[in-house]
Amino acid sequence: MHGAREDSDTMVVGDVTTGTDVLVIGAGPGGYVAAIRAGQLDLDVTLVEKDAYGGTCLNYGCIPSKALVSATDIAHDARTAEEMGIYADPAVDLQGMVEWKDGVVDQLTGGVEKLCTANGVELVEGRAEFADEHTARVVHGGDGQGSETVEFEHAVVSTGSRPVEVPGFEFDGEHVLSSRDALALESVPESMVVVGGGYIGMELSTVFQKLGCDVTVVEMLADILPGYEDDVTRVVRERAEQLGIDFHFGQSASEWEEAGEGVTVLTEDEDGEVAEFGAETCLVAVGRRPVTDTLNLEAVGLEPDEDGCLATDEQARTEVDHVFAVGDVAGEPMLAHTASAEGEVAAEVAAGEPAGLDYQAVPAAVFTDPEIGTVGMTAEEASEAGFDPLVGQFPLRANGRALTVGESEGFVRVVADADGEFVLGAQVVGPEASELVAEFGLAIEMGAQLGDVAATVHTHPTLSEAVREACANALGRAIRTLNR
Ligand code: FAD
Ligand code: NAD
Repeated sequence: MHGAREDSDTMVVGDVTTGTDVLVIGAGPGGYVAAIRAGQLDLDVTLVEKDAYGGTCLNYGCIPSKALVSATDIAHDARTAEEMGIYADPAVDLQGMVEWKDGVVDQLTGGVEKLCTANGVELVEGRAEFADEHTARVVHGGDGQGSETVEFEHAVVSTGSRPVEVPGFEFDGEHVLSSRDALALESVPESMVVVGGGYIGMELSTVFQKLGCDVTVVEMLADILPGYEDDVTRVVRERAEQLGIDFHFGQSASEWEEAGEGVTVLTEDEDGEVAEFGAETCLVAVGRRPVTDTLNLEAVGLEPDEDGCLATDEQARTEVDHVFAVGDVAGEPMLAHTASAEGEVAAEVAAGEPAGLDYQAVPAAVFTDPEIGTVGMTAEEASEAGFDPLVGQFPLRANGRALTVGESEGFVRVVADADGEFVLGAQVVGPEASELVAEFGLAIEMGAQLGDVAATVHTHPTLSEAVREACANALGRAIRTLNR
């Protein structure tokens, strides 16, 4: 069903009621992918977005942050290449860099809009909320632009997340920055306190330190990047320290004060001992919370949990059968590729196909220096799951390509099941770890054994040879490292 009709009971000037098979709320990587896939499956789709196509990922998250990571790497690598006989001191114009980044974003968001239209997706600009189990209201932006009612068979909630605010640290874009503010700065602050040593804290600390800003990280826990293994985070932390980032662990940010032109951030340790850290500005990155409080979810029969998340099954269905939730609203892992994978599943299930997502093969990456890439189980998780873990590891200092790119810190590790030698997981820290981990994801998805990867001839000289060698090492037959 599709098309507009006048609703004589409720109609006000400009009001219309439309009908659709699938209403998608939010055009981030969860929502736009769900909409395109549903369009491919010949469903009528309406995609409502209140801000910008591409959501957080394309506009304020993954893409802008990775653009700045790469651009600052170019300048930093040129500046530190004396060992290779290169002497350079590139000047960085942050405004120019941000304009370039914005161009990349525009290209991608424009592409999303075109792809949606080409797949028959009806794009509606406005803020949607549920009115009842099969109806939503969309209020269009701006004065006098009216609203419309959309009747739907299925709905996909893909409204993403917003940054958590530490009490007292309201974002003001000047003294207290969110990641979105930090990615739009037009000049490099002299110094910055970063609250939180998680994904955003570590990626952006690295960017700003490389741009010449003096970065201090205050982290509540005992290490950076909670959830990653110690030997993985150690490589990243030591490199960050070499870059000059100053870490203070066990410090929970409690308040901040203006100090001259800058800020003083106060922290408390677990004994209540207070410490002070001064800087020109402060970036707060202490996690993100799903946007589920603005959708009138009760009207459709849903209630988020205490963290604001909507519970879903492996088909991305909520407790209400015809309503799906994908991406950050469905909780951890809050990653763009998870959102997209769930979006595809939701569309296929809405079209009556037998789809489902296997979270075991979903990778994660941190774009620090060096990068981290992981997928599946760690050895500890494999033991907890009842496997007898068989581990193989290959140090990147023994990989020719890593040495030729001047980045040989780190390793590739594979975890398999000793009985069947099936690949269960991998942890990679080193250059291009975010790319290398994809090979392990494929191995897990295909049910490959260590021998399959070890028997695959890899191009020389490449970083991916370390993937093969790690698998061979688990089998006791690695050539370029001693076998365990
Ligand atoms: P979003 O991308 O947040 O999109 C939700 C959309 O819904 C928004 O456009 C919003 O305007 C719209 N919306 C909300 N409410 C309504 C409403 N009522 N009506 C209409 N529209 C509405 N993940 C990675 O995998 N890799 C990375 O490198 C990475 N880097 C990141 C860097 C930063 C700085 C940040 C902040 C996040 C990063 N992430 C990364 C996380 C990633 O951005 C999110 O996991 C991803 O965007 C989630 O997609 P989504 O579709 O669920 O939500
Ligand atoms: P995070 O959960 O990764 O890290 C938050 C950190 O803040 C934690 O280490 C936590 O211990 C610390 N913390 C919390 N309260 C604190 C306080 N009061 N004082 C000091 N430290 C405190 O969250 P994030 O960095 O804000 O990122 C949000 C989410 O965005 C991530 O969880 C991830 O899902 C996504 N993201 C992904 C990528 C990527 O995939 N490369 C990059 C950026 C963001």
